[in-house]
Amino acid sequence: MLFETVAATGHEQIVYCHSKDAGLKAIIAIHNSVLGPALGGLRMWPYRNEAEALDDVLRLSRGMTYKNAVAGLNLGGGKAVIIGDPSKDKSEALFRAFGRFVNSLNGRYITAEDVGIDVNDMEWVFRETEFVTGVHQVHGGSGDPSPFTAFGTLQGLLAALNHRYGNEDVGKYSYAVQGAGHVGLEFIKLLREQNAKVFVTDINKALVQRAVDEYGCTAVGLDEIYDVDADVYSPCALGGTVNEQTLPRLKCKIICGAANNQLADDAIGDAVEKRGLLYAPDYAVNAGGVMNVSLEIDGYNRERAMRMMRTVYDNVGRIFQIARRDSIPTFKAADRMAEERIASIGKIKLPHMGNNGPRFLGRMRGH
Ligand code: NAD
Repeated sequence: MLFETVAATGHEQIVYCHSKDAGLKAIIAIHNSVLGPALGGLRMWPYRNEAEALDDVLRLSRGMTYKNAVAGLNLGGGKAVIIGDPSKDKSEALFRAFGRFVNSLNGRYITAEDVGIDVNDMEWVFRETEFVTGVHQVHGGSGDPSPFTAFGTLQGLLAALNHRYGNEDVGKYSYAVQGAGHVGLEFIKLLREQNAKVFVTDINKALVQRAVDEYGCTAVGLDEIYDVDADVYSPCALGGTVNEQTLPRLKCKIICGAANNQLADDAIGDAVEKRGLLYAPDYAVNAGGVMNVSLEIDGYNRERAMRMMRTVYDNVGRIFQIARRDSIPTFKAADRMAEERIASIGKIKLPHMGNNGPRFLGRMRGH
């Protein structure tokens, strides 16, 4: 049954991790390691049962393969989940037990923070293994990725403007930004630096007020954001906001934002294309976060991080080229770009571990 599932999804390895003493029930999924060690976050969630946890880890790890491949990283895709309630089941023993399992994979899987996990949890994991990113800056970690993700999102936007309008004049266009959180507010700042007209909404009214007061944005209602007459719709909150209900209302020409899984499903991706909207694929646009943590592997450096974010421009541009070349929607072109890269590197039949495994330079463990 499990082998049938992974035969369909193409996973390489699933590791069930159990420690009765530590109360650990975790699953690590390595989807594809052709490009390098599998990097992807650890999620802690009160899954109702094992099947739900397995489903999630398989889906998320596969997504990381595509994201890392399109980002041009020498990294494969993996993910881990801990079955538990992050508000009450966390302990030092739990995370150290998880860390030992990660360590046992000897660098084939590198973990990071995801939903339900914070930098303090990672400190415990880091006690047991060096195969962890997103550790605290005092240990040579990369810190909050949001400003980098926002800068990467701007690069994706430039590629989209260029493709659609033949210029990259950010200030000439108007934007409907949904979500003024960590990434959204930074992105707004970058747009306003170029005097762009920005409409903003967020559930959190204080954040909207900040966008208005500090950056001169125009506030709109939560539902109104879909009707705003703006050139670009920028989802920077939750996934699934481009759906059957919202798409007919969008007046924009471009969809480009930092949120994950923006399209409700593939059919909507096709419908976006039919409506003549240019969709800059989310996982290519928001790769700044993973690019940033990936730099911890051979010594984190802010300047290198900024340079790396600029590559989002080329990645998104390349996706648009593939879409045109193969007459397919851009969301499919992103997947194709990932698959082509993995296939071409996969043809080099030489082992990469041993001489090209994760090195983790410039970090210090312990206090
Ligand atoms: P965040 O939680 O700081 O910000 C999200 C904001 O969206 C919050 O302020 C929240 O109040 C608001 N929000 C939630 N639902 C909303 C709704 N229906 N309408 C309007 N606003 C709503 O998160 P973030 O780190 O800024 O991430 C934003 C998105 O970008 C997420 O989808 C995240 O997965 C994705 N992302 C973030 C990073 C990163 O570096 N932080 C990297 C890659 C992808």
